[in-house]
Amino acid sequence: MNREQRRSAAKQAKKDGNSELDEKVALFGKLEDECLTCSLPFDKQDKNMVQSWKVVVREQEGKVNLYCPECWDKAINLLEGFRKHIEEKKKDDE
Ligand SMILES: [Zn+2]
Repeated sequence: MNREQRRSAAKQAKKDGNSELDEKVALFGKLEDECLTCSLPFDKQDKNMVQSWKVVVREQEGKVNLYCPECWDKAINLLEGFRKHIEEKKKDDE
């Protein structure tokens, strides 16, 4: 393996990791260590957690919000319900 190959291999390895999360964290310098909603502790060393938890960057506030999968699902369901509600309401108006 020459130098160039080693470099691109290292780059690829980094890409395969959770670089998106790393970037977000680097962007704001810190990541909460618990779920914003239920305060479930978050372990940055736990790969499963890092992959399943959701990170929402609020650039305007300079904040990184962290949600456990359970709370994230609830939020999605809530949003979905809200969206349906709005759509039904629109139908009624027509
Ligand atoms: Zn939670």
